[in-house]
Amino acid sequence: MKKRLFSIALVAVMTVALLCSCGKQEGMTVTKGVLTMATNAYFPPYEYYEGEQIVGIDAEIAKAVADKLGLELKIEDMEFDSIITAVQTGKVDIGLAGMTVTDERKVTVNFSDTYATGIQVVIVKEDSDIKSLDDLQGKKIGVQLATTGDIYASASPEKGGYGEENVEKYNKGADAVMALKNDKVQAVIIDNEPAKNFVAANEGLRILETEYAVEDYAACINKQNEELLTEVNKALAELKADGTLQKIIDKYIPAN
Ligand code: GLN
Repeated sequence: MKKRLFSIALVAVMTVALLCSCGKQEGMTVTKGVLTMATNAYFPPYEYYEGEQIVGIDAEIAKAVADKLGLELKIEDMEFDSIITAVQTGKVDIGLAGMTVTDERKVTVNFSDTYATGIQVVIVKEDSDIKSLDDLQGKKIGVQLATTGDIYASASPEKGGYGEENVEKYNKGADAVMALKNDKVQAVIIDNEPAKNFVAANEGLRILETEYAVEDYAACINKQNEELLTEVNKALAELKADGTLQKIIDKYIPAN
């Protein structure tokens, strides 16, 4: 009788242990077994479409992280402006979008350890009389809505910006570049790697040598999901240590 009681107890303990280990993964993501990532897939080389598929640095890093966590990666494409809300409201697990870590964003989401550096640069027409950041005063500047380029440029001149009234906001970086080509704006402030892509794809544009801002890219995660944050940071550290991260970046950003 005692023996039987013992085995029942053992089964009970094992069941609880099993449930706990499954529950760990289960509770960690919006959909069981899946890491749902939000991005804006018009930001080469970090994320862009190759046919139907979203590829790029962020897509590959997220895939490598998901693999380490034993999760399947699902990418949802949305406006850049919607990513933080999607993470905050628990529609998705994580946002990777060449997203800059800022104090304002930290109020609503957590950020993983940084995995890349971003630089805000200025694109002008090749024959433009804009040669320096000072020359941008009073000019019409195109930006991508709600990006750091938008936030900095829209600030008052005392705060290093050019004033809200001088900034035209577009949903996609490519739309801002189109506006520059069509003389609707005289400059575009955007992250350097997409800038290089846009300049390569469009004739008659160049990037100013002076950098506007240097920043860190990281993944954003729901404030309540400390567990996922820890797991993602652990995975990123491993991917950094074994060279995978650098390999992914080098694949998309060939050394000059
Ligand atoms: N790095 C910029 C930001 O976080 C732009 C990112 C993007 O457009 N995908 O605001």
